[in-house]
Amino acid sequence: MEENLITSFRFSDDLYRNSSGMARVLPEPDVHIITSGALRIPAHSSILASMSPVLENIIYRPRKHRSSGRVIQILGVPCDAVLAFIRFLYSSRCSEEEMQSYGIHLLALSHVYSVPQLKRRCAKVLGERLSTENVVDVLQLARMCDAPYLYLKCMKLAASHFKAVEKTEGWRFLQDHDPWLELEILKFMDEAESRKKRTRRRREEQTTYLQLSEAMECLEHICTEGCTSVGPYDTEPTTKKGPCSKFSTCQGLQILIRHFATCKRRINGGCLRCKRMWQLLRLHSSICEQPDSCRVPLCRQFKLKMQQEKNKDDGRWKLLVRKVLSAKAISTLSLPKRKRQELEDTHSRGIRCFRL
Ligand SMILES: [Zn+2]
Ligand SMILES: [Zn+2]
Ligand SMILES: [Zn+2]
Repeated sequence: MEENLITSFRFSDDLYRNSSGMARVLPEPDVHIITSGALRIPAHSSILASMSPVLENIIYRPRKHRSSGRVIQILGVPCDAVLAFIRFLYSSRCSEEEMQSYGIHLLALSHVYSVPQLKRRCAKVLGERLSTENVVDVLQLARMCDAPYLYLKCMKLAASHFKAVEKTEGWRFLQDHDPWLELEILKFMDEAESRKKRTRRRREEQTTYLQLSEAMECLEHICTEGCTSVGPYDTEPTTKKGPCSKFSTCQGLQILIRHFATCKRRINGGCLRCKRMWQLLRLHSSICEQPDSCRVPLCRQFKLKMQQEKNKDDGRWKLLVRKVLSAKAISTLSLPKRKRQELEDTHSRGIRCFRL
């Protein structure tokens, strides 16, 4: 007992020195903290209570024996971790070495005693020191201590280095003792994989919309001013005209138009390339804002047809139109495999509008 007292007094000098001149203004300690190693740490109830609502509750709850003095037990973690914890309550600081040695314990203490500043600090430092070796242990702790930032970081690391994590002692322990967490990790990995797939698909779709949007620009340009090999039927071909700024798309479109005009397989809506052309014309009409003065073939006819068929409007088509309208950049010509509408009867009228 005697020895403990001496230890505690020595410690208290050190403790208060850390708290930037506080020792001079602090009254006598009025509470003792007892650790697993039976170390008694003298402390000030006002400081403990101001930093931790849990300690505040313990300090101010009614005592059975008024004479017994205030004693708080913090057991189950190394003495030095408790010292580092109390030091943090006094100074709001933690040394690198303390974090290095007791980060896990400090996280648990900050959770149990509800000290959010320390919790954030621990989560950050532990997150920076994650490895495939310790990730399972830290993950378990992060879940227990409700530290979502750290939890997510652990999950991501476990998912991305699963082959290595699977070989660790921590993982084997987890499999034997915490099958729910094992399941949680596997589920997270699965979701991460499908998230990745979704993102890839969205990116691909976006590229398609951009390409379609460029094709729409080129179609209007071919039908109003004409390009290298195709132009409006009533305009003289100008051989001097050089390639336009979006020539890779424009050229593809011109080749498609030439095919469209000459394809022999007009029965049943024509071949796949013809159907693609139909779809581009229809798309133009869906987007066009000036059908009355528009030079693109079939623009008005498609608009009229769409008005007649308003009730059986195709939701997917509308979505496509919206997406193309919102697409900004533009690259090459290609079309998604969407349901294609046959517009057999207007085929020949379309061809007459071009000068090839
Ligand atoms: Zn062009
Ligand atoms: Zn064809
Ligand atoms: Zn138009």
